[in-house]
Amino acid sequence: PPTPHPTKRGRGERRLLYVTLHPQPAKPAMTSNSHLAARDLAVVWHPCTQMQDHEWLPMVPVVRGEGCWLIDADGKRYFDAVSSWWVNLFGHAHPGIAAAVAGQAQRLEHVLLAGFTHPPAIELAERLLAHAGAPFAKVFYADSGSAAIEVALKMSFHYWRNCGEPRRRRFVVIDGGYHGETLGALAMTQIPLYREVYGPLLLEPLVAPSPDAYAAGPGVDACEAALAAAAGLDELLAQHPGEICALLVEPLVQCASGMRMHHPVYLSRVREICDRHRVHLIADEIAVGFGRTGSFFAHQQSGVKPDFLCIGKGLTGGFLPLSAVLTNNTVYDAFYDDYASQKAFLHSHSYTGNALACAAALATLDVFDAEPVLERIAELGVALEIALAPLREHPHVAEVRRCGLIAAVELVRDRSTREPFPWQERRGLAVYQHALTEGALLRPLGNVVYCMPPYVATAGELEWLAGVARRGIEHATGVGC
Ligand code: PLP
Repeated sequence: PPTPHPTKRGRGERRLLYVTLHPQPAKPAMTSNSHLAARDLAVVWHPCTQMQDHEWLPMVPVVRGEGCWLIDADGKRYFDAVSSWWVNLFGHAHPGIAAAVAGQAQRLEHVLLAGFTHPPAIELAERLLAHAGAPFAKVFYADSGSAAIEVALKMSFHYWRNCGEPRRRRFVVIDGGYHGETLGALAMTQIPLYREVYGPLLLEPLVAPSPDAYAAGPGVDACEAALAAAAGLDELLAQHPGEICALLVEPLVQCASGMRMHHPVYLSRVREICDRHRVHLIADEIAVGFGRTGSFFAHQQSGVKPDFLCIGKGLTGGFLPLSAVLTNNTVYDAFYDDYASQKAFLHSHSYTGNALACAAALATLDVFDAEPVLERIAELGVALEIALAPLREHPHVAEVRRCGLIAAVELVRDRSTREPFPWQERRGLAVYQHALTEGALLRPLGNVVYCMPPYVATAGELEWLAGVARRGIEHATGVGC
């Protein structure tokens, strides 16, 4: 494989060599990795993890990043095929972004954004609005994707209230959607794995059918599936006149539910339906924004504009937590009044519009301005699809799909019926474990193995990565291709 960086010998291995040459009483070698992992497991509770898994699944302590590669404490390198939960765009420790953050840290690290402002927050809002285009006119900052969703939900609800329609207090979401983990965002999430336990605490949105082309079944055209789902939404909205604030959609790819993809016609049809029922359209582009689907913003492929655009993750190139909600002046003006009218949007987070994060975001936009990023994504996407193509014939693969630089392989027990592997078998995890041995971070979503690499990957690296995925799937299913 064209792994450009062979694994370096780590301290632990040198010590093993010494032990072999100089026999000593048997004692397990304490590598830098295992030392850090032991300290970590004594004190850190990790996200999205059954901690007991780490009795047999190694924790990987990363000490450095270089481009697409992460380097552990023993010197082993891992290709970050999932952009560290979809945040990294231009590689780890990108020099331009790192310099921008360092420079900003020496001028101003943070100032509250109420009553005060700073040049990076202003410039970033200007440049984001230029990318999004009219009628987007205002940017509200937050500090995580979930927080941006909370902002959009509250703004939409509050808008209708300010406009004299307080009966509008429900939201509509799409089946299989994911919008975060704070209680408001989790309520909108329609993935039982994350939502079910907390159900008693959550708002109950109305759920519209998913436009997911895979779920529609084999042979169903993606455009037909999208139009059928949109018709279902239309019916749902018709049943609740004057009750609904907004519809929440992940444009083009429902990422957390397994990189499920749909046709762009869905969003254009949905825009028309929302307008007809006087319901806001919130686009959650926290995962799919900033080029992932091939366009700067995913909704741009459908030619329509949402009322709220939520962005996060790649906004800072993967350097710092920052998110934002973009909206138009119709929404903004509904809050603009005498203080005593109590129409103001009083939502706040301490780190709203943090100056270091804004500087990282500006440096990220500089890369988009200076380099042909979208062209590169188009080329790499094709290379990735070609490299994964042999998996289309695998007896335990129901579909290989791609949108921009997001590619996914759907593992199933029975290809002819698309019967999934029971989740308890954790086949995707077996692929992950195998990939680690070959030096790739290929964290799955259940039975879906996917890649969403940084844009600085090379075609050769993606070909190698597809080989790792193929061998991992062979390992996980016992069948090669
Ligand atoms: N919305 C989408 C579509 C996401 O994929 C995510 C995270 O994966 C979120 C919202 C929540 O973002 P965060 O994890 O930054 O809170």
